Amino acid sequence: MLPRDACTRKSEKIGIIGAGPGGLSCAMLLAHKGFDVTVLEKASEVGGRSAPINLEAFKFDTGPTFLMMKYVLDELFDLCDRKSADYLQFKLLDPMYQLSFPDFYIQMSNNKERMRNELNRVFPGNEEGLNKFYSREKKKYERIIKNLYKDYSSLASFLSLKLIAALPSFFLGGSIFDNLGNYFKEEKLRICFTFQSKYLGMSPWECPAAFTIIPFVEHEYGIYHVIGGLNQISKAMAQIVKEENGAVITDQKVKKIETSGNKVTGVQLQDGKKLAFDKVIVNADFGYSMSKLFQPGKIKKYSSAKLQKKKFSCSAFMLYLGVDKKYVAPHHNIVFAEDYRKNISDIQEGRLSEDSSFYVQNASVTDDTLAPNGKSTIYLLVPVPNNRSNIDWNEKAESFKETLLNNVEERTPLKDLRDHIEIEKMITPKQWEQDYNVYIGSTFNLAHNLSQMLYFRPHNKFEELKNLYLVGGGTHPGSGLPTIYISGIVTAGLISKNHTLHNT
Ligand SMILES: Cc1cc2nc3c(=O)[nH]c(=O)nc-3n(C[C@H](O)[C@H](O)[C@H](O)COP(=O)(O)OP(=O)(O)OC[C@H]3O[C@@H](n4cnc5c(N)ncnc54)[C@H](O)[C@@H]3O)c2cc1C
Repeated sequence: MLPRDACTRKSEKIGIIGAGPGGLSCAMLLAHKGFDVTVLEKASEVGGRSAPINLEAFKFDTGPTFLMMKYVLDELFDLCDRKSADYLQFKLLDPMYQLSFPDFYIQMSNNKERMRNELNRVFPGNEEGLNKFYSREKKKYERIIKNLYKDYSSLASFLSLKLIAALPSFFLGGSIFDNLGNYFKEEKLRICFTFQSKYLGMSPWECPAAFTIIPFVEHEYGIYHVIGGLNQISKAMAQIVKEENGAVITDQKVKKIETSGNKVTGVQLQDGKKLAFDKVIVNADFGYSMSKLFQPGKIKKYSSAKLQKKKFSCSAFMLYLGVDKKYVAPHHNIVFAEDYRKNISDIQEGRLSEDSSFYVQNASVTDDTLAPNGKSTIYLLVPVPNNRSNIDWNEKAESFKETLLNNVEERTPLKDLRDHIEIEKMITPKQWEQDYNVYIGSTFNLAHNLSQMLYFRPHNKFEELKNLYLVGGGTHPGSGLPTIYISGIVTAGLISKNHTLHNT
C-alpha cells in the first residue's frame, strides 16, 4: 500500500459528485488508500436521501430507517482500519417490525424461537414452512452474496464461473411472491415475507424471486437502529474521509461534467468555477445525472429517450411530525391496505389508491435523542406512483395528507395524533424530483427487474466515457443501503486496481 502522507498530494485526483451513502462509502475507501479525494455535495449536509431533517428540536431521517446486513457496514469500516462501533451506537430491534393487517397483526423477529411462537399464534401449522425458508434461502443467499461484490463492467466478468454457478439462484423463475409459495400457502403470510420488495420500490408479484434474500437477511441477521438516526452513518463516513485527508465540500452543486472526446476532465460548479480531476465518480441520482449533467447529445446508451424506456421504482409521499406526546407503539409498523394487491397495481399503473398501505416509524420508543423530553418524532411513508403518473401534487398533497392522518389514527395506536402535532414537514414525489434531484421522483432508483441487474445495470465503470465511474443505488448491485455500500467497495476496487501516481 502507498505511504499515506507521502501520496495524498501526488496521487490521482478523484472528484465525487454527491455525498450520499454511495459517494461517501467510495470516498472513505479511496481516501484511506491515499487517493486525493474531493466530494462535492449540493446540499448543506451530507447523506442525500439519508441526510437528517431537523425541525426545531425534532430530528428525523429523511429516508432509510431500516439498517439490515449491518455486517456490510462493519466490513466497510474494517477496510478503512476502523470499527463501526467506535463511531456509531447500534441497537438491534426485536421485534424487527410489526405488520398490521385490517384483521390481525404480527410481530416479526430475527430470534428464531420468538418468530416460531409468533407464527404459531397468528398462522398455526406453518412451522415447517418457516424452517424450510430458513434453511433453503440460506443456501441461495450464500451463492448470491459473493457475486454482489463483483464488478460486471465487462461481459467476461458477467460470464465468470462463480456467477454461472450462482445463475440458477439469480434467475429463479417467477416472482418473490411465487417463491414464498414454496414455504407458505396463505396469501397474507406470503405477504409478510415478500412486502420487502417495496424496499426496492417494486411489487412482490413482479420482483424477481432472487430477492427473497432480503427477507432472509432480515430474519438471519436482524434490523438495526442507529442512535440519532441512520443519518449518523453518513456523518461518520464523512468524518473518516476527512480523517484520511479527503475533502467533503457541502453547498457545492455540480452543474456539468466536463469532457474532452470520450474522456472526463473534471466538473463545472454552479458558480461557473471548473475543477480538474483525473477520475470522476457520480453518486448523484443516476437518471438525473444522465439527463442533466452532460452536454446534450453526449450520452447515447442512457439518453433521455432511452431512459424513458427504462423501468424505475415507485416514489414515496413523506410526512415528518414532531409531536408533544410519547406513544406506546412499535418502532416500525407497516400497515397494509385492505386490498394490498390493488394498492400495488394502482402504484404500478400510476394511480393514487383510495386505500394505501403506509409505514409508521415511532423511533422515539427506542431512541430518546430524537425529541425533547416527553415528545417524539413520527415518520410516515406512503409508497405512491413516480412522476411518470403526472399526478398533480400541488393539487393533491393536502387531501392526501389528511387521508393519511385519518388512516394512521384509525389503524395504529396513534389515535389522537392530530391533536399533538407541533411541527411538520412533507415531501411529495414532485419535491423529490425538484429539491433532491431524483429522476421522476423515483426514490428507489432504477427498478431491479432481471433486465436491469448485474451486467444489465449501469456499470460501476461507466460504459461510455473513460475515467467516469458510478456509485450508489443506480449502479450494481442496487438501491438499498447495504448494496449501496457494496457499490462503494466495487467502484473503489476498480479505481485502486488501476491506480497510477503522478509526478513519480
Ligand atoms: C424514503 C426512503 C426510505 C428509504 N428507506 C430505506 C431503508 O429503510 N433501508 C435501506 O437500506 N434503504 C432505504 N432507502 C434507499 C436508499 O438506501 C437511500 O435512498 C440512499 O440514501 C441512496 O443512496 P445513494 O448514495 O444512492 O443516493 P443519495 O442518497 O440520493 O445521494 C446522492 C447525493 O448526490 C447529491 N447531488 C445530487 N445532485 C448533485 C449535484 N448536481 N451536485 C452535487 N451533489 C449532488 C444529493 O444531494 C445527494 O446527497 C430509502 C430511500 C428513501 C428515499
